[in-house]
Amino acid sequence: MGRRNAALQRSVTVIDELMEEQYSIVEFRERPEWEEWFLLSTARGKRPHDFAATAERPVSDITKCPFEEPRNEQNSLLVLRDAQGEWQVAAIRNIYPAVNDQPFVKSQNGIYPVMAGTGNHEVVVLRDHTTKLADLAPENIQLLFQALIARHTSLQENSALRFISLFENYGARAGASLTHPHCQIIAIPIVPDHIRHRLNAMRQYFMAHQECSICAIIRAEQETKTRIVAENDRFIVLCPFASRIPFELIIYPKHHTPHFTASMAEDIAAVADMVKTALHKLDVALNDPDYNMLINLLPIHTDDEGSDYFHWSISILPKTAIWAGFELETDIDINTINPDDAATALRAAQ
Ligand SMILES: [Zn+2]
Ligand SMILES: [Zn+2]
Repeated sequence: MGRRNAALQRSVTVIDELMEEQYSIVEFRERPEWEEWFLLSTARGKRPHDFAATAERPVSDITKCPFEEPRNEQNSLLVLRDAQGEWQVAAIRNIYPAVNDQPFVKSQNGIYPVMAGTGNHEVVVLRDHTTKLADLAPENIQLLFQALIARHTSLQENSALRFISLFENYGARAGASLTHPHCQIIAIPIVPDHIRHRLNAMRQYFMAHQECSICAIIRAEQETKTRIVAENDRFIVLCPFASRIPFELIIYPKHHTPHFTASMAEDIAAVADMVKTALHKLDVALNDPDYNMLINLLPIHTDDEGSDYFHWSISILPKTAIWAGFELETDIDINTINPDDAATALRAAQ
């Protein structure tokens, strides 16, 4: 190696080390609204493109797809049509439900407490076999949100239920068993422990600060702007300061809004716009990754209304990492990219 090459090599190494240093954050970060800690550890010096999906996305055989004519089945709960009268979204009962409509009873099996698996398990099917949410027409994403609100409202009539989970699993790594685009609704008779913990944390924050924790987060993020990925007049998309996983996204109504089901037509149009934008940016930046999308809502039929301290949201969690022993043991996810850098990469993705 010539002297000139050796010098060049040295300076490249120095730049690499500087980059490495700049990216090396190792700290626990808290979500103040949830009182939950996550570990940010970027010491491995990963760059945004290192998280891109590499596997080919399979498409299942349309002739064997159970979602092609869901509105004809007796399982059909709701059908929404576009302006031309064509069905675009249909809610149906899951033919392999995780919970069912048995009476709710609590009992004891030896030393083990037991409860009946009472509840509802529904699927909200989008019409086209291959068009993923990120590529769906905005009107059809609005219809999807209308369907989710209508089903949530209808399920609330069952006084045995306490929590309604609305989510999309996209891709096999995110738990989807069918490739045809769909969301799921699982309504259960208990409030999950970690939801109870988060609600307590949000209530405590409100009592300590006389302000909703999410409203405070939105204001803080609008001041720094570094983690804002997109926004319109009603909703904002952020990479949370304490992101639990790489490229986590959260979508909030900008104004204090406790109840998702109270959304007006303008809210539905605005949230559909931000969901499409967020999913499209992930698609471009991470090469169509698998993800879970969760709508974070209040429990139902509880004494506590939550109107002052609760603020609904949508979490989008791309499957860029798998849970391993540490995460399973501690419930602490390890995020390997600075959310500021994730937000920069997503803002740039068009
Ligand atoms: Zn299909
Ligand atoms: Zn709020």
